[in-house]
Amino acid sequence: MTTPRLAIARADYAPIDLYAPDRRPCRIDLSDNTNLWGPPPAAAARLRGAGADAFTRYPDLYARRLKAAIAARFDVAPDMVVTGCGSDDVLDSAIRAFARPGGVVVTADPSFAMIPLFARMNGLASVSVPLDDAYAFDPRAYLDAGPGIAYLCAPNNPTGTPLPRAVIDAVVDGFDGLVIIDEAYADFAGTNALDLARSRDNVLVARTMSKAYGLAALRIGFGIGSPALVAEVEKSRGPYKVSAVAEDAAVAALTEDAGWVDEHVALAIENRERLIETLDARGFEPVPSRSNFVLVPLRGAVAIAGAMRAGGVAVRPFADLPTSIARFGASGGEGIRISVGPWTLLEEAIDLLTRSRDAHHAV
Ligand SMILES: *Cc1c(COP(=O)(O)O)cnc(C)c1O
Repeated sequence: MTTPRLAIARADYAPIDLYAPDRRPCRIDLSDNTNLWGPPPAAAARLRGAGADAFTRYPDLYARRLKAAIAARFDVAPDMVVTGCGSDDVLDSAIRAFARPGGVVVTADPSFAMIPLFARMNGLASVSVPLDDAYAFDPRAYLDAGPGIAYLCAPNNPTGTPLPRAVIDAVVDGFDGLVIIDEAYADFAGTNALDLARSRDNVLVARTMSKAYGLAALRIGFGIGSPALVAEVEKSRGPYKVSAVAEDAAVAALTEDAGWVDEHVALAIENRERLIETLDARGFEPVPSRSNFVLVPLRGAVAIAGAMRAGGVAVRPFADLPTSIARFGASGGEGIRISVGPWTLLEEAIDLLTRSRDAHHAV
């Protein structure tokens, strides 16, 4: 049953649906790219030891301690850092801060599913430029789409692929509006575009502590950009958006758990490569990845993911990947995305995936 809409509701909100991936609990959850090795230890200790003030008092208005820790970690000034309730909050606030009526957010297809929603919520349209067989796009086509705000995701979700630096540079060189570079998975990529956040006053690099840092439940994200850019995003995001316990745990994760994070990023990369090799050997055609997940083009993906969930392993199915990419054309636009975690979990996922595929295709 759908709820009837109020007459006073915004007309441009009518097409917005709640974000609703299948989040029912599952024994092994490889569907959301969070850290499956558990929480970083110093951060977890802070949460367990939280005092009364962490509950009853408001947190710091603009999370100054967290900004200082991020600034030290990335070698930027604290006034180049904006924090938020997850990087989703930073992305939404940045779009809102620079939204002009009738404007367009340009993104790639496929890319992060929240961006068209954030665009619409802020009164903007979104336009996407399809990725090509190299998981890149022609920067001229991208700029011709007429961005008011440019969104780039590197590495890209859900493909896991890097965006060539030449493409990023061409977009940044050809456009003087807000450029958001979403680096949710940069920890796993070995490259980043932080130099552009330092050198250009219109580039915001967005990061999250939900993936490599293992703190998704605490909702901590941040952006790095010029002080003038960051100041505008802070205005639109507003005060008190990082809770006191989240700030405390995040500071501990950045200052005391760096070794733990590095170690688990290295493990994720090792297991990612092993996952890809094993899937190759089983006759799948996984997309090479620079993130902590692997996209596998696969006909019947939605049904196969359903069978896997019934067997205790959740993966994320996609049904509308652009068939302009040859690999997705061959799979009818379907695919599944598998988060990388401890090898015992991946082994079980691979076995179940293989059996589910064989059963599905035997029908
Ligand atoms: C997971 C993800 C985020 C959101 O992270 P939160 O900090 O948990 O809000 C942002 N961008 C991309 C591409 C992601 O995959």
